[in-house]
Amino acid sequence: MNNIISNYQHVLPTYGRYPVAFVKGAGSRLWDSDGKEYVDFASGIGTNSVGHSHPRWVKAVAGQLELLAHTSNLFYTQPGGLLAQKLCQLSGLEGVFFGNSGAEANEGMIKAARKYSRDKYGQGRATIITLENSFHGRTITTLAATGQDKFHQHFHPFTEGFKHVAAGDISQLEAQGEDVCAVMIETIQGEGGVNVLPPEYIQAVARLCQTRDWLLLIDEVQTGMGRTGYWFSYQGLGVLPDAISFAKGIAGGLPLGGFLLGKKLHGVLNPGDHGSTYGGNLICCTAALAVIDILEGELPNVEAKGEYIRSQIAAMNLPQVVAIRARGLMLGIQLKDIAPAEINQQLLNSGLVALTAGADVLRFLPPLNISTEDIDSGLAIFKAVMSKL
Ligand SMILES: *Cc1c(COP(=O)(O)O)cnc(C)c1O
Repeated sequence: MNNIISNYQHVLPTYGRYPVAFVKGAGSRLWDSDGKEYVDFASGIGTNSVGHSHPRWVKAVAGQLELLAHTSNLFYTQPGGLLAQKLCQLSGLEGVFFGNSGAEANEGMIKAARKYSRDKYGQGRATIITLENSFHGRTITTLAATGQDKFHQHFHPFTEGFKHVAAGDISQLEAQGEDVCAVMIETIQGEGGVNVLPPEYIQAVARLCQTRDWLLLIDEVQTGMGRTGYWFSYQGLGVLPDAISFAKGIAGGLPLGGFLLGKKLHGVLNPGDHGSTYGGNLICCTAALAVIDILEGELPNVEAKGEYIRSQIAAMNLPQVVAIRARGLMLGIQLKDIAPAEINQQLLNSGLVALTAGADVLRFLPPLNISTEDIDSGLAIFKAVMSKL
């Protein structure tokens, strides 16, 4: 254990890490290098959507590894085509681009939006409106899109052409002018504190976008791939975006991200317009096909599991809990009088892996196939820790 940690002296210290090294996982359980067992309510920040080492996922990935891992996008692959078909069928959109991460997915989606506008209207109509408190990634452009100043301090100058407006206030969007090409939102601001945007607001944004020929881009990196009980969160909201980005949960922990384009944007990106060497390789696409196959059986239970966790926590009547915000298995517990990072450390000590979000929120993103037993074990640890405060 000490060895695992001290080996990190040459890894740049960009993350605040907990002094734990996991060495094994199965389902919604993890084991650290001392053999201690944990319940996983974090799933690698929402990526291990089918839990750890799911037998069908392992079999599919291992089988593909033995055959062929990567060919580059100069060639066709069976898993790439099948996954694209599947994602279009699940989303109702028309075409997909595969990259490797959420930030890269958003970058590509932004490029598609700007090209649409430039092709149709010429220069000077490239502004992307995003929301305050949003999170869209860590590259220079997706940081420009991110509406949280704490991420901006050291890295100027940023990519031009982004404006932030307050979430929930449609008049701020209505006041925008001729330079706008797209609006990019998360339906639930994950990193920003699990802020669930009102459905009426999202519907109003969609209507406004339609009227002004602004593209509606939805960042589904955290909310997508079943997290909210729908394949993509907009499907529960009665809107159809022009494009969405996805990453986190799609390949069960392997790096895959990308974006899907709807009718309006179909045909906008052509040979040479965009690329990514690793994007959508055989391993990651095979993993994603296995994840989708597993989740097809799990999706109908996601909302009920989330509601169960929410109601169990509500019933604990904890004085530190100000609010519980949830859609499916994306839960934010807003706290007072105690920092979420401190609770998180105590939960970890007691065998529960959880996350924080924003300044005062504890966040749960359990695997989507978590069992009721594992939910109960996790909640028992949570209750014990909170009651001791
Ligand atoms: C995590 C996240 C990203 C960034 O994804 P990376 O894979 O870390 O680049 C972008 N948008 C949202 C909503 C996210 O939750």
